[in-house]
Amino acid sequence: MKKALVCGAGGFIGYHLVKRYKEEGYWVRGVDIKKPLFGPTHADEFFVADLRMQENVEKAVSLPFDEVCQLAANMGGIGFIATNHDAEIMHDSAKINLHMTEACRKAGVGKLLYTSSACVYPKDKQMTPLAKCPEDSAYPADPDTDYGWEKLFSERLYASYARDYGMDIRIVRLHNIFGPQGTWRGGREKAPAALCRKIAEAANGGTIEIWGNGQQTRSFLYVDECIEGMRRILAAEKGLPILNLGSKEQISINDLVELIAQVANKKIFIHNIDGPEGVKGRNSDNTLIQSTLGWAPQQPLLHGLQKLYSWIEEQVKESSL
Ligand code: NAD
Repeated sequence: MKKALVCGAGGFIGYHLVKRYKEEGYWVRGVDIKKPLFGPTHADEFFVADLRMQENVEKAVSLPFDEVCQLAANMGGIGFIATNHDAEIMHDSAKINLHMTEACRKAGVGKLLYTSSACVYPKDKQMTPLAKCPEDSAYPADPDTDYGWEKLFSERLYASYARDYGMDIRIVRLHNIFGPQGTWRGGREKAPAALCRKIAEAANGGTIEIWGNGQQTRSFLYVDECIEGMRRILAAEKGLPILNLGSKEQISINDLVELIAQVANKKIFIHNIDGPEGVKGRNSDNTLIQSTLGWAPQQPLLHGLQKLYSWIEEQVKESSL
């Protein structure tokens, strides 16, 4: 039986990735500083451990794993990464990645996947709502947050281990992944979850506050297609380039509110207020993933939003009981 290790298995994407590995018949160890918040893990074994500590990382990788996925990171939506959490984000995530690369080298793991982010792209290339992010536009580097700088540093760290030690390492830049089982309140939630919560809590005809003028654009990828992409990246031949994994259905934040309001069957008014809004425009350029894997995400945003909204509506109802 093949063995997989998922670091960050208590988080949103990690939870779904463990579930997928189990459906494929793997034996899975999950590791995280916390257990999943919204339901029991599907992992065969789950270590609650702080991966900033070298001995915990060495213990985590201590079996002959065929595949290791490193998702653990101190992160959140724009309301978290752009509001004075830079030092803890850089310190915690860099430390985790420094220990992971070295421990995986010593343990001789099979394949190692690192989840980077669209936040690595330079801010001056994302000044207009129509901005796209081909992989080779990451340099000359100038990410708009230190979260993005840490991801870029760690990309280079993993790439150097692949080069110098011949390790089989794959790096993927995720673009705004959303879906059920993700943080939806408390300050670390991302835009789709935050907007679904606000709309679920609002009355029909109510008004919600949106940070910035709402003209900033993003693309959002439903978690099932994210997991599918990660599995395809792991199944490909060794030596893949760094790939974007995101949707290319770009939408402004104000239009995203409209779309969720349609799903909720509510009339919602927007009040744009000052707040962190990030770069003006970002979209996943899927040219390279399509030509490399012969596959790219295709699902319409609306389909994913329907599933996310009904999950968040349920969470909001349960939390008000
Ligand atoms: P998440 O916050 O839900 O999951 C990250 C997990 O890492 C959390 O469960 C957290 O507890 C764990 N973690 C943090 N510090 C730890 C520590 N010291 N020891 C052990 N575990 C620790 O985030 P996610 O959305 O599931 O993201 C997974 C990965 O994908 C992250 O690396 C993130 O940067 C990357 N990513 C996510 C998105 C997205 O839109 N969700 C976009 C780009 C990149």
